[in-house]
Amino acid sequence: MPDVVVVGAGPTGIMLANELALHGVHAVVLDKQTAPTPVVRALGLHARSIEVLEQRGLLDRFLAEGTTYPVGGFFAGIAKPDPSGLDTTHPYVLGIPQPVTERLLTERAAELEVDIRRDQELTGLVQDDDGVTAELADGTRLRARYLVGCDGGRSTVRRLVGIDFPGEPSRVDTLLGELEIGESPETVAAVVAEVRATEKRFGVAPVGGEVHRVVVPAGGVAEDREEPPTLEEVRRQLRVVAGTDLGVHSPRWLSRFGDATRLAAAYRAGRVLLAGDAAHIHPPMGGQGLNLGLQDAFNLGWKLAAEVAGWAPEGLLDTYGTERRPVAADVLDNTRAQMELVSTESGAQALRRLVSELMDIEEVHRRLVEKITATAIRYDVGGDHALLGRRLRDVRLERNGRLYALMHAGRGLLVDQTGRLSAAGWEDRVDVVVDTGDELDAPAVLLRPDGHVVWAGEDQDHLVGRMEVWFGAGGSGAPGGGPDGGGHAAGQRAGHRSSSSSP
Ligand SMILES: Cc1cc2nc3c(=O)[nH]c(=O)nc-3n(C[C@H](O)[C@H](O)[C@H](O)COP(=O)(O)OP(=O)(O)OC[C@H]3O[C@@H](n4cnc5c(N)ncnc54)[C@H](O)[C@@H]3O)c2cc1C
Repeated sequence: MPDVVVVGAGPTGIMLANELALHGVHAVVLDKQTAPTPVVRALGLHARSIEVLEQRGLLDRFLAEGTTYPVGGFFAGIAKPDPSGLDTTHPYVLGIPQPVTERLLTERAAELEVDIRRDQELTGLVQDDDGVTAELADGTRLRARYLVGCDGGRSTVRRLVGIDFPGEPSRVDTLLGELEIGESPETVAAVVAEVRATEKRFGVAPVGGEVHRVVVPAGGVAEDREEPPTLEEVRRQLRVVAGTDLGVHSPRWLSRFGDATRLAAAYRAGRVLLAGDAAHIHPPMGGQGLNLGLQDAFNLGWKLAAEVAGWAPEGLLDTYGTERRPVAADVLDNTRAQMELVSTESGAQALRRLVSELMDIEEVHRRLVEKITATAIRYDVGGDHALLGRRLRDVRLERNGRLYALMHAGRGLLVDQTGRLSAAGWEDRVDVVVDTGDELDAPAVLLRPDGHVVWAGEDQDHLVGRMEVWFGAGGSGAPGGGPDGGGHAAGQRAGHRSSSSSP
């Protein structure tokens, strides 16, 4: 019996399964599709997702297949120079098509021996005190201790467990596709420039050879958005919106999307959890949905693994929802605002001009970029220190080099500049590095496996208290935790995984 069934092999599901596998959790990923979709939805990754990949040692393979762009211009497409002072060592957008992101995550899953099963549609589920039984369309059943719905905006899992999905329905649909164009590049550029002066939901851009990505407003809201548009529908809408169909032909694929905005009322119902689009949907303004899903998975993975392993402290798994739901609510709000700013209404256009003017104030632009890039997220982990609840950027340590290189295994990390602290008793969950760094604004910090700071200071007793809150009771060697663990643990080094032994 697997520990966890993950429903959906999109970016969220694969990312989650990979995180679980790092911790030795046996996860089975089910997807109803026989093969990954060629439809290119997301076009890029933002700073926090880039950091997440770096924290797991995966960034190089993504950089090798992507292109980096400046971060300015992502809020409602309002072009501005990059703001200075972003708190990240990766202040760029990584342009990489969603199918490539999914392929690279899937290749990683293969390395980690994640069990991905395609052509497996979840149609029912039953949960009890000990586990969840997934019922599949072919009549088979699969039982696991937990089940996570990463099955997209129309989540079957969400419906089956009765979690509400309140919000606004789609008001406008947009057609999207990759097609060949019959017009010259000059004509296409002139049409795009003219139409985009007022209609921001229009675009035609080359993606390789004769093939172009075409985005054009639809004529209405589709009853069934899973039904792709026809070539004739795309041509008709191009003529309506741009006055020419640009001679489009030979579509590689066609798709449509709406602007519905919805947030799951809860992220958990007993042993069933939701992540990614299954938990939140919004228009693709600013390119945030896939990023949000990856970061949900990064938050959930180690917590669910801790439950499975049996060391999770009381309430740890529920912090997934209390932390990530407000983050999604904020993204929903910023996309609602962006949708207003791209409206062709004269009042909205005036508001766009005003916002553009305000964005010339660097502080304002930086705040908006921080929202899109998810680099200023602060979870409520208690305490006052400025670092608490934030993820630490990839600071440079004196002897060990970059911080994120120490986090590939997905474990907790105590970075100790004092050389006097100990994590004895938690060696199986927390690594220790004794080192100094100019960019580290605390004597020592305790990082969760997702890189968020849950303790900063120099007091061993206080550290032990926070260690228990986030990593559960210490084993043998912890203060009071076993025959050898009595008394104060400060200064103990035996049995530690320590990258360096002195400050
Ligand atoms: C036009 C467009 C552009 C976008 N651009 C960006 C962007 O630039 N940046 C960005 O971050 N995001 C962007 N997004 C959003 C992004 O595509 C989604 O947020 C992302 O795909 C969500 O990933 P997911 O894994 O949560 O869900 P999905 O990608 O929807 O994957 C869900 C998976 O679950 C499977 N499934 C569904 N039901 C079942 C079932 N019952 N049983 C088994 N399997 C099931 C599906 O087959 C699918 O493989 C864009 C979206 C659109 C439409």
